[in-house]
Amino acid sequence: MDLPQLEDLGPVSGKRVLVRCDFNVPISGGVITDDMRIRLPLDTLTWLLDQGAEKLTVCSHLGRPKGKPDPKYTIAPVRQHLYELLAARGADTSRVELLENLRYDAGEEGNDPALVASLVENEDLYVDDAFGAAHRAHASIVGPPAFLPSAAGRVLAREVAVLDGLLAKPKRPFVAVLGGAKVSDKLGVIEALLEKVDALLVGGGMCFTFLAAQGHTTGASLLEESQVGTCERLLASVAASGKRILLPTDIVALSPGGTFGAGKEPDGEVRQLGPDVPDGWTGLDIGPGTAAAFADEIASAATVFWNGPMGVFEDPRFAAGTKAVAEAVASAKGFTVVGGGDSASALKQFGLDDQVDHLSTGGGASLEFIEKGDLPGLAALRQAADRARA
Ligand code: AMP
Repeated sequence: MDLPQLEDLGPVSGKRVLVRCDFNVPISGGVITDDMRIRLPLDTLTWLLDQGAEKLTVCSHLGRPKGKPDPKYTIAPVRQHLYELLAARGADTSRVELLENLRYDAGEEGNDPALVASLVENEDLYVDDAFGAAHRAHASIVGPPAFLPSAAGRVLAREVAVLDGLLAKPKRPFVAVLGGAKVSDKLGVIEALLEKVDALLVGGGMCFTFLAAQGHTTGASLLEESQVGTCERLLASVAASGKRILLPTDIVALSPGGTFGAGKEPDGEVRQLGPDVPDGWTGLDIGPGTAAAFADEIASAATVFWNGPMGVFEDPRFAAGTKAVAEAVASAKGFTVVGGGDSASALKQFGLDDQVDHLSTGGGASLEFIEKGDLPGLAALRQAADRARA
């Protein structure tokens, strides 16, 4: 994909640059628990400063403050950390301003022209480095490129280059591993991936709709009844194409009345079952046989894409499947791409996040890019480049 790069902006010296970042970091008790999203765009910011930009007006959303100021979502801790990181690189922080949380203004998510106008006022250039928000047609993403010469920052450019390469010319075998809660959320992605991959490994809550389509019982596990027919069709189409969808052959399940999940006292009996889950039991992880089979597929792949946990990994009783997949991806010899969100958190939980080739900063954005081949934020940048050429 031909995105305008920083070098395409022309001379930056003396210019005022609006920079959209994705600083949507986890904060607990005022402390940033993972600063990857603040560290990554530092290269973009320091490049602009080194080129002599007069002023960088940096902006980002943080959490979901619902269109009005809410101290719980203030960007202040991010600001302080950003300045520390920039100062540690010897950057002149007096030329950098980080605006307050964009989502304090309902116009951000509503793509309000008035917010766009206030963002671009007095700015000369726009740089988008917020891959994690590129699938949102929000004011700060799609608005400024209509008014200012625009470019992708380093983070956005690399994310798109990696995903583009993955889809255009993957080394084979190409294995995708999908998990997470719902099939319906990921049907578009599953269909798009099936066009590209040699094998699709399905775990997480979504595997039960596929297992039901194969005639297995699913007990009280997550099941999307309305999607069983679609899963049947997908399984049949794959069988005809010579590709493979691998489903769990064993399941770790919780007994009837057992409890799991955030804020609950874990309770109930945990059992390892075959692919049929009896009445009242809830399948919450792939079993060890499935984990080993998935790990073998990942080990022999030349390209691996992973998105979504294999079970409720937040609960240690149901984390083994996700851990096995995380370890297999981390030690794989092939090119490995992990699509943000919960899979990124899982990798971090197991201390393996630095052992993959590309850890995306955008879960939703990477899935939507795979599904649709484009994102609103990318289209806006290309339109700005087309306008500049015309
Ligand atoms: P998603 O946002 O769709 O990627 O889903 C991630 C969530 O799916 C995680 O919070 C997991 O706890 C949850 N999950 C994974 N496997 C299961 C399962 N078998 N049953 C219910 N939830 C699951």
